[in-house]
Amino acid sequence: MRGRGWKVYLAVLLPSTAAYFLTQPGGWGQIWLQVAIGYTATAAILIGARRNAAGERGIWWCFAVGVFGNCTGILVEGYLSWRNPGFGFPSWADLFYLSLYPAVAIGLARLIRKRTAQRDWGTLVDATTVTAGLGLLAWIFMIRPAAADPSIGLLGHMASVSYPVGDVVLVAMTVRLHLGARTRTASFWFVSGSLLAFLAGDTAWAVINQLQWEPNDLVQAILKVVFLGAYLLFGAAALHPSARDFGGKERPQAPRLSNAMIVLLTVASLIAPVLLIFQVVRHQITDGLAIAVGSLTLILLVVTRMAQLLRQLEQQSRLVRELSHTDELTGLPNRRAWTVELPRAIEHARRHGVSLSVAMLDLDHFKQFNDSYGHPAGDRLLKAAGAAWQERLRGVDYLARYGGEEFIVLLPDADSTRAGEVVDRLRDVTPLGQTFSAGVATWDGRETSDELVARADTGLYQAKQSGRNRTLAAEPTSTALT
Ligand code: GH3
Ligand code: MG
Ligand code: MG
Repeated sequence: MRGRGWKVYLAVLLPSTAAYFLTQPGGWGQIWLQVAIGYTATAAILIGARRNAAGERGIWWCFAVGVFGNCTGILVEGYLSWRNPGFGFPSWADLFYLSLYPAVAIGLARLIRKRTAQRDWGTLVDATTVTAGLGLLAWIFMIRPAAADPSIGLLGHMASVSYPVGDVVLVAMTVRLHLGARTRTASFWFVSGSLLAFLAGDTAWAVINQLQWEPNDLVQAILKVVFLGAYLLFGAAALHPSARDFGGKERPQAPRLSNAMIVLLTVASLIAPVLLIFQVVRHQITDGLAIAVGSLTLILLVVTRMAQLLRQLEQQSRLVRELSHTDELTGLPNRRAWTVELPRAIEHARRHGVSLSVAMLDLDHFKQFNDSYGHPAGDRLLKAAGAAWQERLRGVDYLARYGGEEFIVLLPDADSTRAGEVVDRLRDVTPLGQTFSAGVATWDGRETSDELVARADTGLYQAKQSGRNRTLAAEPTSTALT
């Protein structure tokens, strides 16, 4: 029964909602049916919260208060029109209807906070952009006309402005909730559907009021059913077993902007200029200031987002470059980094007329070491040797892992004697008594990088040949021999 409660709930409430079309327009039957559905949904939210939402009861209680208050508005309005069919606007009923907004907004704010693992500026800017666009639409078509209506007093203005403002707030939070979501469960979709139904219903009423159109009974019934659907979906969301994961932390989003998102942001940013074009074409710029402020806000948001993305891109490419130039095991520059560094150093030596030496080091009988102590021990030795040598070298020297158990050192401002001394100093700090052979080559003033390295390699080969554990300098003439 536990997992199926939501099905039983829907099986009862869906037909009851559809039954609204069979009720007598304007009669008490309609009112009681709506109230019964709203209160059943409220009870469902409370029961679901108890069963499924140990950590998020507070959030569901907010939703329950919103649905209960909104639905009580129907009862109050019914009572008021029964007492006095010509009662004015606003009335106590509006207070109840409006209670939906703060209650649901508080619930959503808590939900968003709960789901967000870490501050997500990108999503926040995107949500604000969409909200700014829709907010401008709401301002021009709903809020300003409501505020300007001369037929209602101060309270009337406050009440009629509160509806669209409440809608904009809910839109903002719904968008934020969705943009930050990677896991969308059934419960999540039910809540989204409910919010969408409330917003669709409110928007439809706003449009109808704008057009000063008196909807017939069927249209009125359809709109009422939209709101009943919103109640119903809230209850289903709480009862559905997936409500258990409702407030689960979202894994941090990989920073990306999907195509759909780019389209959405583009549309949102175009709302202000498009509105302006309409008003210019109609020779009636009634909202110049609002459109200007809207454009300004949207431009700033788009630029902010662009800056965020650029910053991310820079950080990532720096990281990629670092990783691609670093040897994983030793943390030293790798061969790719070396092939960038050496031509630079040669160019420097050429321009300043200073000497430059390269030493190539290869551990002796390292295969034996691996065979005796195991490959992991060999890895540790490579790492320790790299660190020890790095420590011993001067700041200007450049040590890289050339491959396997071969290392290469760039020694700026060192002739071959000096280079030989430096390399021999490294022997003292090589760990575990490990020895190495080395070949040294000093740049002859004409060689390319490849030729210089090849010469150091020749020196290394000769060092190995003549017994290992020594450093040999390969003279420039020897290149001709290889
Ligand atoms: P030589 O004195 O002639 O240089 O003998 P060697 O055994 O050092 O030379 P050889 O080229 O025959 O073998 C190199 C060995 O280095 C073989 C390989 O297992 C080991 N080696 C290369 N890269 C790594 C590594 O990343 N980790 C470990 N543990 N061993 C490596
Ligand atoms: Mg070796
Ligand atoms: Mg080798």
